[in-house]
Amino acid sequence: MGRTEPNVADIVHWIGGRFDNGDPSARIGDVFDPARGEVVARVRLAGESEVASAVAAARRAFESWSQFPAGRRARVLFRFRELVGQRQQALAQVITREQGKLLSDALGEVARGLEVVEFATGIPQLIKGEHSDQVAAGVDQFSLRQPLGVVVGITPFNFPAMVPMWMFPLAIACGNAFVLKPSERDPSASLLLAQWLSESGLPDGVFNVVQGDKAAVDALLRHPDVAAVSFVGSTRVAETVHCEGVRHGKRVQALGGAKNHMVVLPDADLDQVVDAAIGSSYGAAGERCMAVSVVIAVGSAADALVPRLEARARALRVGDGSDPASEMGPLITQSHRAAVEACVQSGVEQGAQLVVDGRGLVVPGRERGFFLGACLFDQVRPEMRIYREEIFGPVLSVVRVPDLAAAMELVNAHEYGNGAALFTRDGASARAFTRHVQAGMVGINVPIPVPMAFYSFGGWKRSLFGEAHAYGMEAVRFYTHYKAVMQRWPDAASKGPEFSFPPSAG
Ligand code: NAD
Repeated sequence: MGRTEPNVADIVHWIGGRFDNGDPSARIGDVFDPARGEVVARVRLAGESEVASAVAAARRAFESWSQFPAGRRARVLFRFRELVGQRQQALAQVITREQGKLLSDALGEVARGLEVVEFATGIPQLIKGEHSDQVAAGVDQFSLRQPLGVVVGITPFNFPAMVPMWMFPLAIACGNAFVLKPSERDPSASLLLAQWLSESGLPDGVFNVVQGDKAAVDALLRHPDVAAVSFVGSTRVAETVHCEGVRHGKRVQALGGAKNHMVVLPDADLDQVVDAAIGSSYGAAGERCMAVSVVIAVGSAADALVPRLEARARALRVGDGSDPASEMGPLITQSHRAAVEACVQSGVEQGAQLVVDGRGLVVPGRERGFFLGACLFDQVRPEMRIYREEIFGPVLSVVRVPDLAAAMELVNAHEYGNGAALFTRDGASARAFTRHVQAGMVGINVPIPVPMAFYSFGGWKRSLFGEAHAYGMEAVRFYTHYKAVMQRWPDAASKGPEFSFPPSAG
């Protein structure tokens, strides 16, 4: 627990369409403004009892919500889309205050979340089944998709609005009831979303929020009425959530960490490369699962690139995310900053060349904020900790290789496979990279290739556990059961009982 300011907000649960204080003896966590290093709120941390009441409320709501026509469910999302659009500034301010990212970046996060809401409003079309007339004499075959029941979303601190919006719009559009367990570091956005869903006409209990940490997650994973779990967070926790969820008979998708490589060929447009590398590695202080954390410079690219990256990294304006002059905000907590600094130190000790050292940066007026300046390493080798681990901070590593084949080998050998980008003017190299790279999301001259809402988001290897990617049609499939129906009506001439397996053409 950190230092507590007077009059800090009390962040509670949202169960059955209203605020819920939960168990009065429950643990409470501190929520910081990372730019000031001050406690701005206190959050209730749920245990078994709050989880039980949220799941029970969801279970009750599911009975009627799942029977609503899909078009009626879509209309709630249309209204929600309009409300969030009108109030995005307020939502972005809450995100910046608790997460630390730039206000413009928080607005971007809300916009990307809204794209999924827009996609989900098409649910009558998306959930349509198939129909085959006369598959046998007097027999028709069709398929339908039906909701699972109570589904859970467990989300990370770095996108407190967007990642929940990857999940709940499609989950509830498909007819499920939803329980969100947001990050305990920045929980306020979840309550704004809950209130606005309610204002949009969502029946009580269809969307619930239990605040909390591991204890709440464990209770959700054990609960027999939870049918499916969507998780986004670190690989360590994603793997555990996947294993535990599956062990308890649930459908699980668990998106984990990343180490996104940006391969630069010597023929690439260097101005474009420098802008892309700086924005995608230091944007949001590197706390993005799609952040570029490794530049693989092929051949002569490195000598041209490193001095230009150095100049830009040194010039980066670090400050409070609510200050429009800032280009990079603070890290989420003091302990995370310490962990990132320790990783930087390991890079120095293992022999990488620290070209820009952002440690010890002090932002005037925000001396207690959790800031770390941009760090840039050259001459990084694959066995070093700074190359192997996801650092999740403003640390960019440059690795030098002789050719594209060596670059691809590195990308494909890494344990993570979230995103990978190639910068080049050569179409054949781009095509080979796209086809052979082992990553779920690929950018060609695009550093952060986050798919649009009508595609799906997810990584390969240890960046995703389970089969389904997030949002898009993958989510419609994840949040529904498939049912195949074969139908015959009594006016079809009866041939009496059949004892052999009928041939398809009947
Ligand atoms: P985290 O794994 O610490 O926490 C994620 C969620 O799990 C939170 O709700 C947290 O309360 C809960 N949790 C934490 N420890 C737990 C435990 N031991 N058991 C059960 N639940 C636990 O992740 P974070 O620090 O909030 O977020 C950063 C991580 O998320 C990074 O690794 C980043 O790459 C990843 N991330 C991945 C994606 C993606 O799409 N692949 C997107 C965003 C973030």
